[in-house]
Amino acid sequence: SPSRSSVIIVGAGISGIAAAKVLAENGVEDLVILEASDRVGGRICKESFGGVTVELGAGWIAGVGGQQPNPIWELAAQFELRTCFSDYSNARYNIYDRSGNIIPSEIAADSYKKAVDSAIQKLRNQEEEEEAYGDDHCNNNIKNSETKLPSTPETPIELAIDFILHDFEMAEVEPISTYVDFGEREFLVADERGYDYLLYKMAEEFLFTSEGRILDNRLKLNKVVRELQYSKSGVTVKTEDGFVYEANYVILSVSIGVLQSDLLAFNPTLPRWKLDAIEKCDVMVYTKIFLKFPYKFWPSGPDKEFFIYAHERRGYYTFWQHMENAYPGSNMLVVTLTNEESKRVEAQADEETLREAMAVLRDMFGPNIPNAIDILVPRWWNNRFQRGSYSNYPIISNHKLFHNIKAPVGRIFFTGEHTSERFNGYVHGGYLAGIDTSKALLEEMRKEKESQTLLLEPL
Ligand code: FAD
Repeated sequence: SPSRSSVIIVGAGISGIAAAKVLAENGVEDLVILEASDRVGGRICKESFGGVTVELGAGWIAGVGGQQPNPIWELAAQFELRTCFSDYSNARYNIYDRSGNIIPSEIAADSYKKAVDSAIQKLRNQEEEEEAYGDDHCNNNIKNSETKLPSTPETPIELAIDFILHDFEMAEVEPISTYVDFGEREFLVADERGYDYLLYKMAEEFLFTSEGRILDNRLKLNKVVRELQYSKSGVTVKTEDGFVYEANYVILSVSIGVLQSDLLAFNPTLPRWKLDAIEKCDVMVYTKIFLKFPYKFWPSGPDKEFFIYAHERRGYYTFWQHMENAYPGSNMLVVTLTNEESKRVEAQADEETLREAMAVLRDMFGPNIPNAIDILVPRWWNNRFQRGSYSNYPIISNHKLFHNIKAPVGRIFFTGEHTSERFNGYVHGGYLAGIDTSKALLEEMRKEKESQTLLLEPL
């Protein structure tokens, strides 16, 4: 029969590694980490492309320079990760229309203000509705007489601004905890060792490593968990390759997208309240497409790092970044797609995506620019170990939803960015969630031990 460990951690992303580290530091050494892919890092994932290291997943350390230190920023400082300040404030002044004209700054500023006002209005209306009807939305056709209808974006420039405001959370609309707590600055990780170097350094503190590799047999790669059977006495975990692992507890760090898919079977099935909560949380797909060119043809300089393409279709190759600040001389552009556009592009051949991107670039910079010599299209939606990029809670989401997504079911504890009420969707969210979940589990283990000791004591 399989040997039994104290804790099995499913997933070796930032939350799983942070959780394991806290357990190990608190004396829980007999843990096992089961990771479906062949590497550590999850959505922190580098690839070598066009002569540099690019980040297919998380790219920025978001929330820096505020009152409280962002723990990821602290790790980056400790391990001397190379980063580069990103100034988004100019993006709105680098908006191109389809004829390659830059929208005059007064018009751009005006449209921007209009979009922000409209978003604020929309949020107020929602809040009012929430207050009036709570969870019961059946009555939402009855509008307060004071409710103003927010304007809907229609023109290409309005659509482009709406896209960057909402799909990039660049909103000066609602307070986002990350920026409130940790500060408003963002730094792009531009390190040849990759963002995942931080995970490796964390792992090094509790797992056996040698020459830059984790060699500890408590970390098991290529182990796709398919079934979790749980009872009052323990959890049995089955993997796709037919192995069986037993533990007192499981920490499950798979993404919300995976929880919504049928990759994992729970036996018994999860309770209704848990399934409902998992179902209610949206998954955001976010795709950074990298394009390598023989030479640079775009305007350079820090204030030109981000530029925007205004098209009549919302989100159609809207948001661009040149990599000259991060990697001078790399001759590389990145364009970001989200949600439906991401899914569309994932489903087509990369040559087709390259053709579309080139047509957009020729709209902006004219017909004589060179073709890209290479393209990289990550596929987070079609990755069965991810099924999306990160969790996207409703703007006005109630505390109960987070509570239920995070709450343990019997001996299965949940972690991952989606369980972080304040910082979901971010690396620091995953990191802090991992620490949180392990602390909750340690407390549970302490209680269990205490009750066992009481039982053993003579009356
Ligand atoms: P994951 O990293 O997904 O870890 C879960 C692990 O579980 C994975 O390794 C997965 O392979 C494994 N797994 C899944 N199913 C199974 C199974 N059945 N059995 C075993 N293992 C399994 N955050 C920022 O802060 N800044 C950014 O700029 C940023 N940009 C992003 C851009 C993109 C394209 C994406 C995808 C994410 C971005 N994020 C960003 C979000 C950030 O990457 C995540 O919030 C964070 O990395 C999530 O960590 P996690 O541990 O919760 O999940």
